[in-house]
Amino acid sequence: MRIDLHAHTCVSDGTDTPEQLVRAAAAARIDVLAITDHDTANGWDEAALAAEREGVALLRGMEVSTVFRGRGVHLLAYLPDPTYPPLAAELSAVLEGRDARVPGMVERLRDLGLDVTVEQVRRLAGPTAAVGRPHVADALVDGGYVSHRGEAFDRYLSPGRPAYRNRAAAELETVLAAVTGAGGVSVVAHPWGRHDPGVLDAAGLAHLQGLGLLGIEVDHQDHPPSVRRELRGIARELGLVVTGSSDYHGLGKVDHDLGCNLTEPAELERLLDAAARAAAASGRTAPGVVGAVG
Ligand code: AMP
Ligand code: FE
Ligand code: FE
Ligand code: ZN
Repeated sequence: MRIDLHAHTCVSDGTDTPEQLVRAAAAARIDVLAITDHDTANGWDEAALAAEREGVALLRGMEVSTVFRGRGVHLLAYLPDPTYPPLAAELSAVLEGRDARVPGMVERLRDLGLDVTVEQVRRLAGPTAAVGRPHVADALVDGGYVSHRGEAFDRYLSPGRPAYRNRAAAELETVLAAVTGAGGVSVVAHPWGRHDPGVLDAAGLAHLQGLGLLGIEVDHQDHPPSVRRELRGIARELGLVVTGSSDYHGLGKVDHDLGCNLTEPAELERLLDAAARAAAASGRTAPGVVGAVG
C-alpha cells in the first residue's frame, strides 16, 4: 500500500487544483493521500469528490504555520473539524498575517530596483487562500529576475535575505490544543528540515507529545539519511507515530514527486486509531477518511 500524507494544491502554494492532485496521485499509484494545504481546508470538498471518483482514499488535513519558542514549525493536522471556532480563529489569524506582509516584501524588492507589484503577486496567486512568499517568488520569476521559486527564496525571501519579513504566527501549543479539540491529530512536518534540531530536540518533542502531539514526519526530502535515522530513533523511544510524505507542490517545488517518501501502513493505522479516538472525545463532526484504507 502506497501512502503519501502531505501534498499541496493551488488552494495554497501548489500548482495543481485539488482535482488534479487526486488524479496525479492515482496516476502515481498512491492508495492513500492526504491533502494538506497551508492553513486552509478550502480544497477539501473538491478533493473529496475527486477521490471518490478516482478510488483514492483521502485524508483531509492541513499544514498550519506555527511558532514554538521563537522558531517557525509547520504542524500537519489530520481530520480536524475546520469549523471548530478555536481552530478557525487560529487559521484566519495566520492567513491574515501572511497576506499582510506581502506589501512590505514587495516594497523591499522595489527598493532593490526589482519591478514587482502587489497586484502582480495577487494575480499570480490566483484563487489561493494563503497568499505568501511563494507567490512573491512567482512574481520574481514572472519578471525574469530569477529562474525558479527556489532561487527567489535563496536570494531574496528566506530569513536573512533582503526582502524577508517576519510575520505573526500561531503558537504551536495553542494550535495543538485546537486540533485536538477539533477532533483531529497532529504531526510535526519536516521537524529538522532546513534547521538544526534546536527547540525540536528529543526533550522538545516529548514536551509537545505531552500536549497532544501524535507523530513526526521523518521521511521528507529536507531530511538526509542521518537525520532520518536519528528522528526515527527519537520517535521509537517516545512512541511517536512516524510518517513519510512527498510534500508535493506540483510545479512549485522540484524533487517532491508524489510517492517519493511513503508512510508505513502500520503507522497510518495508529494515526487513524488516534484520530477516531480524538473525534469521539471532541464531540465535533470530524471529517473522517474518504473511501476505504487497505
Ligand atoms: P510563507 O508561509 O509565506 O512564509 O511561505 C512558506 C512556504 O514557502 C513554505 O511552506 C514552502 O512551501 C515555500 N518555501 C519555503 N522555502 C522555499 C524554498 N527554498 N524553495 C521553494 N519554496 C519554498
Ligand atoms: Fe508550501
Ligand atoms: Fe512545510
Ligand atoms: Zn508542505
